[in-house]
Amino acid sequence: MEEIIAVPQVTQKLLKKHRISLTKGLGQNFLVDRGIVDEIVLAGEIDDDDNIIEIGPGIGSLTQALLEKLGQGKLYAIEKDERLVKLLKKILQSEKLVLINKDVLDIEWTAFFAEHGLDKKPVKLIANLPYYISTPIIMGLLEARIPIDRYVFMVQKEVAERMIAKPGRKDYGALSIAVQYYSSPEMVRVIGPDVFIPQPDVYSAIIKLERNEEPPIKQEDVDFFFRVVKAIFQQRRKNIKNALSNAGNITIDKNIVLECLEELGLDQNIRGEKLDLATIGNLSDLLYRKQILYQDGE
Ligand code: SAM
Repeated sequence: MEEIIAVPQVTQKLLKKHRISLTKGLGQNFLVDRGIVDEIVLAGEIDDDDNIIEIGPGIGSLTQALLEKLGQGKLYAIEKDERLVKLLKKILQSEKLVLINKDVLDIEWTAFFAEHGLDKKPVKLIANLPYYISTPIIMGLLEARIPIDRYVFMVQKEVAERMIAKPGRKDYGALSIAVQYYSSPEMVRVIGPDVFIPQPDVYSAIIKLERNEEPPIKQEDVDFFFRVVKAIFQQRRKNIKNALSNAGNITIDKNIVLECLEELGLDQNIRGEKLDLATIGNLSDLLYRKQILYQDGE
């Protein structure tokens, strides 16, 4: 394949030649701007021994550029649409490319890493994600603590903004907390719809997540912490006292909630969205300890 895929004429020609009509439900908006493709690749800072996972290679705009930059490692490209996998096999022949025809949400990542011998190797995820499932994809990987050193991906702008949001912002929530607990996120840039065929109805953003070796806060019980986070943000309009004592996903006695808030000097009428990661962490630890004492005493 000599031609650069990420230009409108080549994309159109390939789709026509292989009689592929795009499936909107699969988020098939293909990048047709080599400048943007190069920016994504650059943000990946690909080292010679890096392996790369790409989710949703499409017709290979980004895949082609990634293969050019790859050193000793391999590129694992996971695509659900069988027609595109067949096309990629024809146009991007490379020993370094491992094409996987699968729904990414069906992948069990620990098994995937073991199967491909990636456990002890440097791995980066670089992708223009299918937007309709970008949050479950990233959350699934972060929560399972899959050893991916760096993520560089394109998503809908609002999703990227939620990932980097700080307390007090309207888009600060459970996704911000989870992403910032497991990684250090950085917005690379915002992009308009005109770099895609067909053009999406939304703006996009490239975002970079550097995996945290150690989370910024230490929790006694990480699972409990995330249940507290969920309780706080599932009922955003409730104050913290009510959100925590009437949560569907944890049962905490109202008196314990009040005791903990008082001990930490927190106003019981404050809303969770005003609280930063460290404060929610302290509150969660205290709730956890008091809850255990309370249960033991019963
Ligand atoms: N990387 C290409 C590019 O930048 O031009 C295509 C990106 S397009 C936004 C998203 C791609 O993800 C499409 O090729 C689509 O078929 C694929 N896709 C959608 N749902 C998927 C899923 N559940 N698992 C794997 N791939 C999926």
